[in-house]
Amino acid sequence: MNQTEQTGDAYVARDPQRCKICGHRELAVTAHTARCGNCGVLLYYPYPAASLPCFTSEQEAIEWYAPSAAYNHVNFTRMLRYATDGQPMTAPLAILDYGGGGGQFALVCKSLFPRSTVYLVDINDNSALKEWAPFSRRLAFAEFPADPTRFDFIFLNDVFEHMDDPISALRLLAGKLNDGGRIFIDTPRQFWIYPLTRLLSRRLHLKLLKGTVSHMHLQIWSKRAFGIATARAGLRAIKMGYWAEFTMPCDYYLKNMGITSPALRVAGHAMYAAARFILRNKIACVLAISSGSE
Ligand SMILES: [Zn+2]
Repeated sequence: MNQTEQTGDAYVARDPQRCKICGHRELAVTAHTARCGNCGVLLYYPYPAASLPCFTSEQEAIEWYAPSAAYNHVNFTRMLRYATDGQPMTAPLAILDYGGGGGQFALVCKSLFPRSTVYLVDINDNSALKEWAPFSRRLAFAEFPADPTRFDFIFLNDVFEHMDDPISALRLLAGKLNDGGRIFIDTPRQFWIYPLTRLLSRRLHLKLLKGTVSHMHLQIWSKRAFGIATARAGLRAIKMGYWAEFTMPCDYYLKNMGITSPALRVAGHAMYAAARFILRNKIACVLAISSGSE
């Protein structure tokens, strides 16, 4: 194993022909994606130069948060309770919302843990909505690697799929945990509809890829790829599950996939309604420092 394979860092710059998660050379290219023959990660491909911010204006942000805020309120509550299980309401926790966007997560944190201090970092330093901004302390993105603040909990809600170098980013975050600290990640995974459409219908599979992999969603995880990435960051999973979790109404996803046929739209709505039974689209995981890394 050479140095590049050991670190997992910057495969993009060093070898665009390799999987950036595991270093394997066998990449099956379909449309704007590549799937690794070893770890199974589904990548936006060829690799773009860098991660991009989700929004470039407050108007764009509002257009996203208006339909998603109610979903997120419930999702944030669920992930907080999952990751902080056993913590008393009065705990003075230091919590980081990494890639926190509009800042709504801090509001839910302060509701459940009023004595917590919530920090927010985002690639866009002006991402917080002014109404949510008072609930968190902003740390500048460019200065974050050198910032001395340490955290009891770090949350990456729908962030791990956006990172162009997720292993290095996660390693940096692992180094910012207090003793006994935890990192929570929820991120899209390739659930059964990916292999099924790949097998049965190229047309539907291409729609699925169009709707889920993009210059914003750079990797859709397999369980194996997720395990390799987190282990290379020096972390181990202490809790993991597959969740049905959406941030938008059903029509948003159908539109993204370019699905207009009435029959497919009915099928899409039926699947969305039954999601918690049949459509567990996210990995949800609580991570701790591996004993070998301590
Ligand atoms: Zn791989």
